[in-house]
Amino acid sequence: MLIFVDLDGTLTDTTHPSWAPFRDGQAEVDVSRVHLFFGAMDFIRDFRNSGHTIILVSDSHPRYVNKFKALFGLEGIELADKPNTVKLNSFIATKPDVQALLQDKSQCFFIGDTKLDIETGRRLGIMTILLMQYIVKEENISVRDGVGDKRGNQKMGPTFYAKSFNEVRDILNNPMGHLPSIEAAFSGFISNIAIRFSDIRYKDGSFGIIRCLARQEQGSCDQFARADKYFQISNSNRPQSFLQTLADGVKFYLDGILANRMYSWDVFTYLTDKSTTQPPNKMKEIFDLIDTSIPKVTLFRWLEQGQGSLRERNLYKERQEFLNQYLQVDDSVDIKGKSIIVLDDQLTTGATAFYAIGKLRELGAVNVIVIAMFQMILPVYNGKICPRCGKEMLIKIRRNDGSRFYSCTPPQYGGQGCGYTENIL
Ligand SMILES: [Zn+2]
Repeated sequence: MLIFVDLDGTLTDTTHPSWAPFRDGQAEVDVSRVHLFFGAMDFIRDFRNSGHTIILVSDSHPRYVNKFKALFGLEGIELADKPNTVKLNSFIATKPDVQALLQDKSQCFFIGDTKLDIETGRRLGIMTILLMQYIVKEENISVRDGVGDKRGNQKMGPTFYAKSFNEVRDILNNPMGHLPSIEAAFSGFISNIAIRFSDIRYKDGSFGIIRCLARQEQGSCDQFARADKYFQISNSNRPQSFLQTLADGVKFYLDGILANRMYSWDVFTYLTDKSTTQPPNKMKEIFDLIDTSIPKVTLFRWLEQGQGSLRERNLYKERQEFLNQYLQVDDSVDIKGKSIIVLDDQLTTGATAFYAIGKLRELGAVNVIVIAMFQMILPVYNGKICPRCGKEMLIKIRRNDGSRFYSCTPPQYGGQGCGYTENIL
């Protein structure tokens, strides 16, 4: 195994601004006064003793980082300038053993507490673990580097989430069993894990939560994110085996929910297709294939007058208004006192999911879970330059066959490039 690990906020509890002079090398740090996160030292020692390679990747100053290299007995990189991989790649270029390990990306991980760590891992095409062991006060949240920026870090799309080094160990011992359930299903594994997009707890003890079962990547990512499968949903030639695997991924997650006897679920429903959707009934077909004991009910319907698509409405507020006008709940079904699970295909801003929760609660529902099969995550560039115009190119996926290519995305597809493309073999 090859493990890249961040220092501040991951191994050491040093994200507070008062540590900045030390991290920046202006003052001499006394490592004996630094609080290591619980289990950090044991984790490093145990995994090194088991023959794994661990490399420290820190943006802090060498004067500071060198002390921790010595403390943990690790080699590593200072002033790494994450998420840029220039310095990291030149370090790797001097290490034939690390290069060899990177050949098998199913054995490579990047562990860190911010989106910069996750983006760096995605640029390398390896799995990432977002490790959150601290709570940041509002005034110390940094959107720029992601310290305490929960939503921002999540949008970067880490492969795994952990709250402690014990959870990190569990993930490393069985990564496939910790993938989001649809990603696992498409890799031939069973998992009941979901990405926890949002948790709303109400005063009466009930809740409305949003979960996602796979990542829909843009640009570079580990091999388990499945934008290719998301695009397949809209393909009129989608094979039955694909629909079944997707339905199985949802079922595995539902099985996990049903195993929790604290809550019971009365209705399983889905966000219906509009009459204009292609292929017709694209969601209904998936919904019908899901094998679950929760009674299936069709609750939502689109008003025919709903012109245009939600996808064209980018602003959260605009989406909410659109939904309020055109997405209706069937009032012939009494949902008072019922707990409801809603299936949707994709989550971008969360507008549809929050709307569905609000609407169902308004009509008397108790607990609501909205499951989006795919969560769109932020685009990540990996430094590939367009040979024609010199702009950075993004890895894209052809919707018809799922093949990958580099795209210098032109304006008609939302980019600023020249339209040059290059196949990835
Ligand atoms: Zn170009």
